[in-house]
Amino acid sequence: MSEQTQRIAIVTGAARGIGAATARRLAADGMAVAVVDLDEAACKRVCEEIEAAGGRGLAVGADVSDESAVTAAVERVVAELGAPTVLVNNAGIIRDNLLFKMTVEDWDAVLGVHLRGAFLCTRAVQGHMVSQGWGRIVSLSSTSALGNKGQANYAAAKAGIQGFTKTLALELGRFGVTANAVAPGFVETEMTRATAERMGASFEELRKAAAEQIPVGRTGTPDDIAHTVSFLVSEGAGFVSGQVMYVAGGPRN
Ligand code: NAP
Repeated sequence: MSEQTQRIAIVTGAARGIGAATARRLAADGMAVAVVDLDEAACKRVCEEIEAAGGRGLAVGADVSDESAVTAAVERVVAELGAPTVLVNNAGIIRDNLLFKMTVEDWDAVLGVHLRGAFLCTRAVQGHMVSQGWGRIVSLSSTSALGNKGQANYAAAKAGIQGFTKTLALELGRFGVTANAVAPGFVETEMTRATAERMGASFEELRKAAAEQIPVGRTGTPDDIAHTVSFLVSEGAGFVSGQVMYVAGGPRN
C-alpha cells in the first residue's frame, strides 16, 4: 500500500497487553500505527516488532489524561505518519478496592485515564476523520461495566465508555465515522496478573477459576481482542456503529 492511501491508526496504551497486540494486528492489516503509551521506550519495542514484520510504526510517549500531551501526541502523528483516521482508546489502569476503602485519588485516577483519556484523544483526532469523510473509533469497555465487586471506579468508567461511544456514533455517523466499544471478559495480561496479586492468588489459579466460568472453557488472549478491533476498524464495517461487542467467550463473561 502506498503511503498516500495507507490508513493511519493511533492505539493508546499500546506498549503491552491488548494495546500492543492491537497495534501489531492493525499494522499487519496494512495500517501505519502510532503506538502511544506513558513510556516511549516501551512503545519503541512494539514499533520494532511492527517494523520487523514489514509494517510502519511510530512510538509516542504521552499520558492520555493530559490535554496538552494528547494535543502534542496527535500533532506528532500528523507530522510523522499522516492524518489519523483510526483511533483505539485502550489505555487503562485499575485501582481496585471496596467502596468504603476507595480513595478519591483511586476514583479520579481511573476515571481520568479511561474516560477523560478517551474523551481527549477522540476530540483531538475526530477533526481529521471528519475532514476525510471516514473514520473508525473503537474504545475498550469491559464486562465490569455490568458491575464488579471491588471495581466501583473501573465499572463506572467502563459503563461511561459505552455511553460515550453511542453518543459519538450519533454525532459523527454523518461524516462517515463509526464508533464502537469492545467489552472483553478475562484476558491474560499484566492487568489480570495485578488482580491475582491483589487477591493473594497465583495468576494460574485465577485464570483456571475464570476459565471454569466461561462458556468456551478458556480465558481470552490479547489477540482475541485485537481480532475484534481489526474487524470494527475495517473498511467493510462501515454499517456497524454505536455497538458494544462483548468479547468474553460467552454472553457476559
Ligand atoms: P495493561 O496490560 O495494564 O496495559 C495497559 C497499558 O496502558 C499499559 O502499557 C499502561 O502503561 C498504559 N497506560 C496506563 N495509563 C496510561 C496513560 N495515562 N496514558 C497512556 N497509557 C497509559 O492492560 P490490558 O489488560 O492490556 O488492558 C487494555 C484495555 O483493555 C484497558 O482499557 C482495560 O481496562 C481493558 N480491559 C482489559 C481486560 C483484561 O482482562 N485484561 C478486560 C476488560 C477490559 P503503564 O504500564 O506504564 O501503566
